[in-house]
Amino acid sequence: MAKRKVFTGGCLCGNIRFRADGAPIWPHFCSCTMCQKWTGAPVVGWVDFPLSGLTWTQGAPKLVRTTPKTQRGFCPDCGSGLFALDDGAENICLTIGIIDQKNSLVPESHSYRGKAPKWLCVEVPGKKPGA
Ligand SMILES: [Zn+2]
Ligand SMILES: [Zn+2]
Repeated sequence: MAKRKVFTGGCLCGNIRFRADGAPIWPHFCSCTMCQKWTGAPVVGWVDFPLSGLTWTQGAPKLVRTTPKTQRGFCPDCGSGLFALDDGAENICLTIGIIDQKNSLVPESHSYRGKAPKWLCVEVPGKKPGA
């Protein structure tokens, strides 16, 4: 996995910026129905970071509860989807598209591939042999 320890990023309008310190965990794609609805895209890239290392350096995300135990955060000004956070979780799951250093976050799997449109072609670049 990536050796880099500090990641930065932000939303489309630039009002929200963050810094994530710590090793990224399990970059992956997801095509579950909730991710598709929430982003409008047939596939979304996600990566976990330790919640303790995340700092909002500018602005504050707005939260919406999308399951009984999960909230998703977005920019209240431009609507960019920023993260998903389970109640009581130690990690926060950020969308890869908002991260500045996304080249080093290589997706390893594709969750809910069967929910994606049949025409979608997604290569999983970090897939381990036999996985
Ligand atoms: Zn924004
Ligand atoms: Zn999903």
